[in-house]
Amino acid sequence: MENKQSWYRMIPKMDFILKQDEMQEAILLYGKQPVMEAVNVRLQAIRSEIPKMTEQSQLEEKLALLETEILEQLEKKSERNLKRVINGTGTILHTNLGRAPLSEEMLQRVFHVMSGYSNLEYNLDAGKRGERYSHFEKLLCKITGAEAAMAVNNNAGAVLLMLSAVASGKEMIVSRGEQVEIGGKFRIPDIIDQSGGIRVEVGTTNKTRISDYEEHINERTGVLLKVHTSNFKLIGFTESVEREELTELGHRYDIPVVEDLGSGILMDLSKFGLKKEPTVMESVMAGVDLVSFSGDKLLGGPQAGIIVGKKKWVDRCKKHPLTRALRIDKFTAAMLEEILSVYEDLDYAREHIPVLSMLTESVNVQHQKALRLVKLCDSLTDEYEISVVSCESQAGGGSLPGEQIASAGVRIWKEAMHAGEIEKRLRGQPVPLIVRIEREGILLDMRTIFEKEIPEAAEILKTVLG
Ligand SMILES: *Cc1c(COP(=O)(O)O)cnc(C)c1O
Repeated sequence: MENKQSWYRMIPKMDFILKQDEMQEAILLYGKQPVMEAVNVRLQAIRSEIPKMTEQSQLEEKLALLETEILEQLEKKSERNLKRVINGTGTILHTNLGRAPLSEEMLQRVFHVMSGYSNLEYNLDAGKRGERYSHFEKLLCKITGAEAAMAVNNNAGAVLLMLSAVASGKEMIVSRGEQVEIGGKFRIPDIIDQSGGIRVEVGTTNKTRISDYEEHINERTGVLLKVHTSNFKLIGFTESVEREELTELGHRYDIPVVEDLGSGILMDLSKFGLKKEPTVMESVMAGVDLVSFSGDKLLGGPQAGIIVGKKKWVDRCKKHPLTRALRIDKFTAAMLEEILSVYEDLDYAREHIPVLSMLTESVNVQHQKALRLVKLCDSLTDEYEISVVSCESQAGGGSLPGEQIASAGVRIWKEAMHAGEIEKRLRGQPVPLIVRIEREGILLDMRTIFEKEIPEAAEILKTVLG
């Protein structure tokens, strides 16, 4: 016992530790209080271990590692819960994984707006209060051909706002084939009820004709609603009403036509071999009074619910009290302006908006990426069968339903492999790697893995499988 007293005296004092260069650097990085806490935790741990130690060298070893352990602890504590992951699922607009990844260049450009004050609601020419939509409204009108535009927090909010502002208390006519649930509890009938509308369902699940709408129009009718059935595909004996027909009907009876377009795409992707999705321009051209769509689906921007249409109806939305409750922040306003200005040149947009480049990149590019990843995992090939395989990606987020996009991936397999266990460990890494399990093996679809993430993905695979 006598000599252990001197062991305790070998433990350095807080002040001494804090004076070390590494600790001074840590204080600059994390603040003094967290560093002191981490030092205390480590010192307590060492003190509590002394009674169990038999040799003084054991204590010396512990003390030699003291600073490293303090730094490790600080680093671990500063790790955030919400973090970047590598998406190997091949689902481009994965709602669980944050939907549209944003372009780094564009984020750089809005950085200065975020870190300082801005003219978010200040008209610099007039020197008085301005509108937060003013920064992107003209761009949206120019691109879509609409008279006016605005945005709220998300598209679910936009639909609720449009219906509330246009026809609360009145009858809202909607096709039975478009009474859809989008996911996350967003159901069209519930939204109609929420907006104070009286639901009038017309037609049948598979067939709705223009006469079905017309028969139900009366003096209580407030709106004709059209919904893009984003996340499912009706095939076989089906019929729905074209936008042009519906707007003609609405305008004949002086009833506004509102459309929830869901994904809302600003360019025709069919020239890249993808299925034709209705564009926002087509909807505006057809005469729809108000159209809404998401900012973070095929548009490839920040979470938002964008509304474009006739000035009379957009103004009604802008003045509605729900608008204040659903309003966008300065980040969304700045990011929308950034992304929409990129859309002025469609080729440039396709190259610079991550969602669009992922959607339209060729299988060949995916194949090259897969080869590169396989090569970097060379050290694992003794134990595992690692091969480049064909696979299919999807747009996700309710966009392009049923559309399979040919892609290439890396498959990792061995006899009696516990794929589920490995999948779990990959997702437990500091930068989690999210993969698919297919036929007892692990599959990484290269379409959603960025070029710059390939070496990182290889390191993660080697850590877990090596
Ligand atoms: C995705 C979607 C919504 C919901 O949009 P959020 O931006 O997620 O709120 C609403 N309607 C349709 C048709 C959709 O596809």
